[in-house]
This record gives sequence, C-alpha cells and structure tokens, in this order.
Amino acid sequence: MAEYNSQPLITAAQEFAKLPGIGLKTAQRLAYYILNAPEEEVEQFASGILRARRSMKLCSVCQNICNTDKCDICSDSRRNHKVICVVESPKDVSAIERSGGFDGVYHVLHGLLSPMNSIGPQQLKIKELMARLSDTDEVIMATSPTIEGEATATYLSRMIKQLGVKVTRLAYGLPAGASLEYADDVTLQRALENRNEI
Ligand SMILES: [Zn+2]
Repeated sequence: MAEYNSQPLITAAQEFAKLPGIGLKTAQRLAYYILNAPEEEVEQFASGILRARRSMKLCSVCQNICNTDKCDICSDSRRNHKVICVVESPKDVSAIERSGGFDGVYHVLHGLLSPMNSIGPQQLKIKELMARLSDTDEVIMATSPTIEGEATATYLSRMIKQLGVKVTRLAYGLPAGASLEYADDVTLQRALENRNEI
C-alpha cells in the first residue's frame, strides 16, 4: 500500500478482509467506520457475532445450522419426512425454502467432494445422511451443477440406490457451473418440479 495507514486501521481492516467477498477497499471503509463508532456500538457488534457463533449448533438430523438439537424444519410434522433434499450448504436450504416449492426435508453436506482440495467423503456429512435413509421414499440431489456438485451427486446416488431408495437430480434450468444459492425462485421451483431419476 502506497498510502499511509495507522496501525489501528490496518489491524481492523485485516480482520474485515478475512470475510468472504470483502476486498481491501471495503475492508478499509468498514475499519474506518468501526474506529469512528462509539465504543458501545463496537462492543455490541463484536459480542453479537460472538454470541451467534457460540449458540450455533448443527441439527442432529439434517446437519443444518440452528440453535437447538433439532431444527424447525426437521421438527415440523407437516413436512414430508420421506423426501430428503441433499444440498451443499445452509445457504442452499434458505434458497430452496425461499422458492416455496418444496415440502420435504433437507440434508446439508457442508461441502462437496473435491479431490483437488483433499475433500473426501469423510469431510462431509455423508455418514449422517446414510444413517437416516431407512424410512425414505426419495432423495433429491440438489447439489450445484458444477464439476464437484455433479461428482458428489453421482457418488451419493450410487450408494443410496444400493439401499433401494429412489434418487433424483434437479432438472436444469439451472445455469451450468452456477451456484444454487444464486438461482432465482422460479428457476429453482422448475428445477425441483422437473427433477429426473438417476
Ligand atoms: Zn434439521
């Protein structure tokens, strides 16, 4: 950096720059804001984040982020617990819920298989998925249409079909290579409605 920055500013900006999607300029702007804010406000900001982080649990059934042992969706008796939609991350659950086109339940893998980044089956919530399939009619593979998303869907569908459970894949509609969370509601709804057996 050619420009002069004081140490408190650099320290705060370095923390913000660790967040996803925050570039250097934005990190500096946020750092300026924090350094100029009343101390109580900064205190509230920091403790709020810490509280959220500390209260975070994973649902014992679907592995989605929640603050109890079982999330609201898994606890909801009006939902169809025999249809499980498998997604990469909690953000995908939010996206599908927002689309309003799904009344089953979810399973969050917390990642995708990626040999290049040494992410294998052990690193994902796959054992937890396999353990809950005894009373399941259908598993919908809703991983993103990326190379890793496809590889993960193929890997899982082979294992699940051996248990005699029907496996389907979202229809595309979804732009290839794109992340599920950025799909609009109508596209997501169609992808769900037109899913194909694999
Ligand atoms: Zn759950």
